[in-house]
Amino acid sequence: MASVTLRGLTKSFGALQIIPDLDLEIADKEFVVLVGPSGCGKTTALRMIAGLEESSGGKISIGARDVTSLRPGLRNIAMVFQNYALYPHMNVGANIGYGMKARGESADAIKAAVAKAARIVALDKLLERRPKELSGGQRQRVAIARALVRDPDVFLFDEPLSNLDAKLRVEMRTEIRKLHRDLQATMIYVTHDQVEAMTLADRVVVMNGGRIEQAADPMTLYSRPANVFVAGFIGAPSMNFVAVTAVSGSAGPQIKLPDGGLLTPPAQFHTALLRLVGQPVIMGIRPEHLQESSDSPLLTMRVENVETLGSHRLLIGQLAGAPFTAQVQSGYSAVEGQSAGLSPDLSHLHLFDATTKLSLLGPQ
Ligand code: ATP
Repeated sequence: MASVTLRGLTKSFGALQIIPDLDLEIADKEFVVLVGPSGCGKTTALRMIAGLEESSGGKISIGARDVTSLRPGLRNIAMVFQNYALYPHMNVGANIGYGMKARGESADAIKAAVAKAARIVALDKLLERRPKELSGGQRQRVAIARALVRDPDVFLFDEPLSNLDAKLRVEMRTEIRKLHRDLQATMIYVTHDQVEAMTLADRVVVMNGGRIEQAADPMTLYSRPANVFVAGFIGAPSMNFVAVTAVSGSAGPQIKLPDGGLLTPPAQFHTALLRLVGQPVIMGIRPEHLQESSDSPLLTMRVENVETLGSHRLLIGQLAGAPFTAQVQSGYSAVEGQSAGLSPDLSHLHLFDATTKLSLLGPQ
């Protein structure tokens, strides 16, 4: 297996610059997920690593090899696509072994490699079936097995689960994670689904507009998002944002809430807030870090919709004219059309500079 290094990678389609300057180092055996909204350039970045898309500038290395101008077949990578791209007239075994056959490898070598790959993805009982006789999950496993037989330096996955239903996606997620553990392989995986990214990755790379907003392990992204974009993208339901003002209180800096109430944030924000006294700040609080509070609540939202999910309820509505969601216990009896008092857990408070949109805690 091998590391993958992108240095100053750029991509333009005609006059349109999709990736202005991408730097990323992926360690040997690391599972990295590129995630971001539609059109942010994650598939293009993956296809450049595969050699399926020519880069406009910069350098791609796999291990110590500069592969920037190498054709895909010489890069020793294997890619699994969203549409499994199986040959319908061939059975599972022939689909898995097709690449080896095309390269002229011996029948015995193909048989052994197919059997081994099929065992890893639990398809060994289905080798004679044709793709149309398989479920979506089984088809995707054939596509993964086809990548396995290549014994590549790096596995690339391009939204491999997006054609599967929700339950199967969860199952396949577990299988891919296990595959990574068993193979100890370098894997780069593209998805627009932040839950998939968080559950699979050693490290998540959040992209936006062809740039990396933050690259970190899932827990750091969740608890220490570097900016408003990452804070809003990671986590479901999304983080709430409230426009507040930094003010100077008698015992140190405080936050002035939209209704005039005051909140004292944890000490780690004090230095940054003192520099911003009198200026607008963005307060972020996740729905799961709010609690119902009828006596002198710090925040009051207008509830427009109550979603009962069994284990908890979501109160969906507005606070100071902005969308706001709170996750409360299932026993909480909120009424649609009325207001609900809430207290934020201040140890999970986030504050961002309203101009730069960067976390007041600075980089991790
Ligand atoms: P999605 O999740 O929707 O697949 P993505 O983040 O993977 O999005 P890309 O497929 O990398 O995004 O596309 C990035 C941008 O490049 C998009 O605006 C897309 O329209 C544009 N693009 C991709 N391929 C081409 C092409 N061959 N010619 C012109 N523009 C392209």
